[in-house]
Amino acid sequence: MRKKRCQSGVGGYFNMNAEILCVGTELLLGSIVNTNAAFLSRELANLGVFTYYQSVVGDNSLRLKESLALSLSRSDIVIITGGLGPTYDDLTKETAADYFGLEMRMHEESLERLEKFFAQFNREMTPNNKKQALMPEGCVVFPNNYGTAPGLAIISAKNQENQENKNKTVIMLPGPPRELEPMFEEEVRPFLLKLKSRLNNSRDNIILTSKNVNIFGMGESQVEHKLRGFMQNSQNPTVAPYAKTGEVELRVTASGRDEKECLDLINPAVEKIKAEIGEFVYGVDVKSLQNAVVLKLREKNLTLATAESCTGGLIGKRITEIPGCSSVYLGGVIAYDNNIKISRLNIKEETLEKYGAVSEQTALEMCRGAAENLKSDIGVSTTGIAGPDGGTDDKPVGLVYVGVYYKDKETGGEIHKAARLNLSRRTHKDERELIRLSASSHALYEVLRLFS
Ligand code: ATP
Repeated sequence: MRKKRCQSGVGGYFNMNAEILCVGTELLLGSIVNTNAAFLSRELANLGVFTYYQSVVGDNSLRLKESLALSLSRSDIVIITGGLGPTYDDLTKETAADYFGLEMRMHEESLERLEKFFAQFNREMTPNNKKQALMPEGCVVFPNNYGTAPGLAIISAKNQENQENKNKTVIMLPGPPRELEPMFEEEVRPFLLKLKSRLNNSRDNIILTSKNVNIFGMGESQVEHKLRGFMQNSQNPTVAPYAKTGEVELRVTASGRDEKECLDLINPAVEKIKAEIGEFVYGVDVKSLQNAVVLKLREKNLTLATAESCTGGLIGKRITEIPGCSSVYLGGVIAYDNNIKISRLNIKEETLEKYGAVSEQTALEMCRGAAENLKSDIGVSTTGIAGPDGGTDDKPVGLVYVGVYYKDKETGGEIHKAARLNLSRRTHKDERELIRLSASSHALYEVLRLFS
């Protein structure tokens, strides 16, 4: 059954439908993966905007115009990505302007920003760069804070003579994801919300607020399986999963008249998620495991040291990404060679001989050695086989032990434990890196679990 074009959606508001049109011959040749389409689809779903079509067209004006005409014949909003750059094959704006019969005009504010951008980096601005500041007359311009090509929107309701395309909106965004994604967040989201509230004939300024629930130890499909009914039935707030490397984030987004109205909708949903999968939830809006660890240790006034074998410093690297971590992270030992394990971490030779470097006993001695030698409250360790070689039947590639040691200064009580993990990804070409990354995540998670 065909869906009606306008349906009751988020919070009882009427919805618009959208379609994504990505421009780029590189996409058609398979040289790059269309991550922009995936990103935009997720974001639109989050806004309660239905996406019925995605398509890709090469850098060809004629075919782009045909595709645009088709998209506009069936969708309220068309989001085009790519082809906004300075070169001759960047045709998106010009083609859309031509389609709507609009003149291209120099947008002085964008030109100024471009000139500043080039001056700032001491780069010469060639004449073709100016093309990026040429805009179809009457369009809305989205400044680009992360690159040179501004985004834009043509709202064809303004062009009353063209009845066929009345109430249609074409949004054009730069191709590079590192420019498109923040532009969507900062400019396009609020723009779409305004469009939506206009559609609902509402004078209210509807705002959108989100909270991200951070999950570790459960894959995206498991999370979806557990929460499917809840996610499907939630319209305001919407609940959408985002898979990050080895982690999942559930974004809970509500629309309302003000922050309080949004939070009153979001908070019960977050509690519901915690009630269902709480043991895997390591934080709300904490961004990453390393961030959560630094926050937790700061809150508890505790220090950490690391003893890393197979992760080769990755845990330390991740923690030191967080500004201000020096108040909780003292340092670490990369103990790759057995002699370093013995001399720097006090691992007993008998332990290495009897159980081997990749063993529960070694992991236990490593984390304790780190805490004692570096004089921290907590020590965390990794030892494992990242491959591709070195695996045996007993100790296959992917076998990792994570040790954690915590001595409570006041009570003298100790927690000292090690987890055996199988992090093998057998068929994956980047298996070694994935095992190391995953081991470092488990180590950070084990530190957090000391307090849960
Ligand atoms: P630029 O100013 O860099 O020329 P543009 O808006 O003209 O930006 P394109 O030239 O089409 O964009 O693409 C630039 C780069 O952005 C591509 O080489 C590719 O790396 C990335 N990119 C483009 N489209 C996509 C997409 N749909 N998904 C992921 N990456 C993309």
